[in-house]
Amino acid sequence: MSGSQHTARSIQEIASFHAHVYYDPATSRAEAERLRGLIGERFAVTVGRWHDEKVGPHDQAMFQVAFTPGVFAELVPWLMLNHGSLSILVHPNTTDPRRDHKADALWIGAQLAVHVDKLPGESEAEAAPAPNTQPTLRP
Ligand code: ZN
Repeated sequence: MSGSQHTARSIQEIASFHAHVYYDPATSRAEAERLRGLIGERFAVTVGRWHDEKVGPHDQAMFQVAFTPGVFAELVPWLMLNHGSLSILVHPNTTDPRRDHKADALWIGAQLAVHVDKLPGESEAEAAPAPNTQPTLRP
């Protein structure tokens, strides 16, 4: 009934999700530490390292939470209620990081800039990262 341009994308494209939790090292790192601890205790996710300096497309210091699609329905509503003053970017991981981080992302809290020019486009992208299924809170 339609050409390929009308075919809906399948959620099977989503290998995993990231939640990037932004903070200001001068004013809100303690709040971020508290939230990070609560997440690590509660959810089967991989909590990434602290990035007190801006990295990649991110406009503020942040840490990353990687999780499988199965965790989304519990984790994302919990973040909506518990993010406090912090901004969180939730995005899918498909084969197109630029699209994933901007056009297809959602925000919890105040929206920040995302510098997608610092990400590979679809043709240059690696395969989406494998989902993480073990709860681990890295130091
Ligand atoms: Zn990400």
